[in-house]
Amino acid sequence: MTTGRSTTARSHRPARSPKIRVLIALVAAAAVLGVILAITLVVVPMLRPAGPRPLFQLPVACGETWQLGTYPGHDDYDVDLFPTEGEAWGRPVLASYGGTVTEAGINGSLGGRTPDNPEGPRGRGGGYWVKIDHGGKWETQYLHMLEPPLVKVGQEVAQGDQIGLLGSTGNSGAPHLHYEQRRGWEKVETHFDGAPSGITTDEREHTVRLTSGNCPRAVS
Ligand SMILES: [Zn+2]
Repeated sequence: MTTGRSTTARSHRPARSPKIRVLIALVAAAAVLGVILAITLVVVPMLRPAGPRPLFQLPVACGETWQLGTYPGHDDYDVDLFPTEGEAWGRPVLASYGGTVTEAGINGSLGGRTPDNPEGPRGRGGGYWVKIDHGGKWETQYLHMLEPPLVKVGQEVAQGDQIGLLGSTGNSGAPHLHYEQRRGWEKVETHFDGAPSGITTDEREHTVRLTSGNCPRAVS
């Protein structure tokens, strides 16, 4: 008579039970899946080429002429914008293209430069700033704004939306807008309305004057 329960062979099997082996196999499978997921979500997008350059416009009001410049010690491609007419303090800073806000806050420290105290203590870094992701690995950033940005992280903005007010927070000598265009992790020569600005090096002081084409567009 047999019960089906006891065989002599079973008592010689290794101590590791089938349940433990299944568990180990599951953990290993999860680890492999995790690596595949990380490659898919992180590495592949990093290697993907950038999309076409968005049709950026000057980050200031339609029709206004501004001076764009750089100087030794600024970084190549960085642009400082000053209005050619009127008061600089508080001028609207506009999104130069539509996208999603990825930074909106304080970079470095604000310092104490305000319209009432323009020679106040200088801050560090970008002061009140905004960064916008335009998709296709393209980004723009806007530094030294007067007040907390008018947009929040995660917010969608359209070209021409006001994101802040021009100021002199952070490491800024006078009220101006420091502006950059980036492709992937690199700064690139700024383009406005499809044309390169010509600001490509900080080896010498260099300025150009451009008129903003950041104008309301008919909705199609
Ligand atoms: Zn600058």
